[in-house]
Amino acid sequence: MHLSPVGLSKHCFLVSLALCALLLLLIPTLQAPQRQGEPPQPRPHARLAKPRSGHEPHRTHNATVHQSAGNGKDSDVNQLPLPRGRRQGSWRVPKRDSTRASFPGSQSREPLEQKDIFIAVKTTRKYHISRLQLLFQTWVSKAKEQTFIFTDGEDKELKQKSGNIINTNCSASHTRQALCCKMSVEYDKFIESQKKWFCHVDDDNYVILPSLLRLLSSYSHTQDVYLGRPSLDHPIEAAERVKSDGSMSVKFWFATGGAGFCISRGLALKMSPWASLGNFITTAEKIRLPDDCTVGYIIEALLEVPLMHTWLFHSHLENLQRLPTADILRQVTLSYGGVENRRNVVSIGGDFSLTEDPSRFKTVHCLLYPETHWCPRNIRN
Ligand code: UDP
Ligand code: MN
Repeated sequence: MHLSPVGLSKHCFLVSLALCALLLLLIPTLQAPQRQGEPPQPRPHARLAKPRSGHEPHRTHNATVHQSAGNGKDSDVNQLPLPRGRRQGSWRVPKRDSTRASFPGSQSREPLEQKDIFIAVKTTRKYHISRLQLLFQTWVSKAKEQTFIFTDGEDKELKQKSGNIINTNCSASHTRQALCCKMSVEYDKFIESQKKWFCHVDDDNYVILPSLLRLLSSYSHTQDVYLGRPSLDHPIEAAERVKSDGSMSVKFWFATGGAGFCISRGLALKMSPWASLGNFITTAEKIRLPDDCTVGYIIEALLEVPLMHTWLFHSHLENLQRLPTADILRQVTLSYGGVENRRNVVSIGGDFSLTEDPSRFKTVHCLLYPETHWCPRNIRN
């Protein structure tokens, strides 16, 4: 058979076209099959935020803390917190919006249970009787397994009341170092616990457990959530010590420890480089501020996660009498004035007089749990 050069190249073109088509058909079968039961590849971890670089370094010597008593935000008490950027104009628009609105799956998540919350109570030896007994009699009795007491001295009688008494071996003083030492132990114990939420309170706080559960249920513990009441109406400005001998000014919000605050596990894990295994104390030394400010510094300034301001947490720095009576049981934490201001308590009536129940914690407890055996109505029936 005679083939002309043109006919030959036409022939070759058709053969190579057929080969290409065959190859295309074979590609799916040539690919390596996925092994049965192979788990999906993990996604890379979220990168930790570096300290912000946008600050103009300037030397300041003292942190400026302006005390503010009761900030007049009581009309907001029934609102769940929104991030600052939305709520009140703002110092900085949050990078990530971690409110309920951004958790569309929140309804389908496993419901949060009280056992998922780690509640750390900070105390000291001298308050084991005068303050802790009241807590054990009231709200702690409803959250025995979740409440961990962080103190600074051995107390056999206290240990009989709960298996969750942690002697931090920190100094029994009200110094910055002693308080940061306790917070450092609280953090490590929470990480160890595997619980979903870390909440810190003082030994003069009443925790309204159903409200706490309701509040935390609105968020996901896997997201970055830092909830609490700012003790100032503006961000604190502190001098952050930098390597050589210099310092830079840094501004951040923090939740006041005296009202209590909560942190999601997801966020707590990100705090680890600055908070775990004694690093919290080193971090606190860098800004020379107390424990609650240091928490704010790590979260807001280093991790760039904004504090979600909530007015459901209360300390005795505010005027507690101004809290509307009808709203009291919907709050998350309450407190009472110390020796210097015994009359700063929530206005709630009941079967206990002010002499019988100066903090009003027993009254609140009996309204929440009227079946309690020592509640007056029960005693009479
Ligand atoms: N506290 C402490 N060591 C002390 C004094 C107080 O750990 O030497 C704790 C105390 O138990 C409470 C918190 O620090 O949980 C705040 O103390 P307090 O209510 O006396 O003072 P505040 O700062 O609220 O005026
Ligand atoms: Mn106090």
